[in-house]
Amino acid sequence: MPFVSGWGPVAAEAAGWWFFCQGTQLLVADGPPVTVPRGAGPAAFGLAPQSMQQLGTLDGVPCFVGALAAPPEVPPPGCCLVGLRELFGVLPDPLYAVATRAVHVAHWDLASRYCGRCGEPTALAVDERAKQCPACGQRSYPQIAPAVIVAVRRGDRILLARSPRFAPGMFSVLAGFVEPGETLEQCVHREIREEVGIEIGNLRYFGSQPWPFPNSLMLGFTAEYVAGEIMVDRVEVLEADWFPAAGPLPILPGKLSIARALIDNFLAEVIHEGTRRKRRSRGVLG
Ligand SMILES: [Zn+2]
Repeated sequence: MPFVSGWGPVAAEAAGWWFFCQGTQLLVADGPPVTVPRGAGPAAFGLAPQSMQQLGTLDGVPCFVGALAAPPEVPPPGCCLVGLRELFGVLPDPLYAVATRAVHVAHWDLASRYCGRCGEPTALAVDERAKQCPACGQRSYPQIAPAVIVAVRRGDRILLARSPRFAPGMFSVLAGFVEPGETLEQCVHREIREEVGIEIGNLRYFGSQPWPFPNSLMLGFTAEYVAGEIMVDRVEVLEADWFPAAGPLPILPGKLSIARALIDNFLAEVIHEGTRRKRRSRGVLG
């Protein structure tokens, strides 16, 4: 049975998987395999989250999120806080997917404790994932900030760039947040124009990834170079260049990210095309 979304307040001793989040860190229990605490309410783990709510059910087992205001002074036995990024490939995939949701929901839960319109404390709605203001009636929902990310190809080369936020030596594909009133397509063209000064075409949707750091949804695209010379803005992008699939390649983002999936897809495409060219020259494929 897959994950089924749920929402609303949680009884203090509700039993199930408990996703205790502190920022983008999650409380996990030592393995193997590494897992998420399962039990009857935060008190069972000696924890007092600032707020908590239902997430849904995984294989019929209730899942709850508890937002911790600070790291626990005494973590439950055998448990510790670990960054969500580090847990990719470590936590079993179904739990990791719920953890991604939990980190995003916990961030929203703590950021929406007061009504944005009148300042009164809000309460969790019971009919959908929302906060309701008892004074003015305003409802607020988890913010999801869409961002585009695009792999630009020029023959057998890919455009990779270095942001000042990256670890030393790391390059990735370009990304940026969607502005109000903008289509995804307009956003891709604008970001590429602003950050590296080139024009692109043949834009194609690739896939998406929730990115709860703290509240993005990454929308991946592939595109092809059309015109212009790379000129970096030195603010969002420090360096950018065309990197050949045959290498050498710089340090790339980790396997967790859609950025890496886009780069791996480019490399696979070039290898596939090379194999087809070789076969054709040998007369294997008409
Ligand atoms: Zn209000």
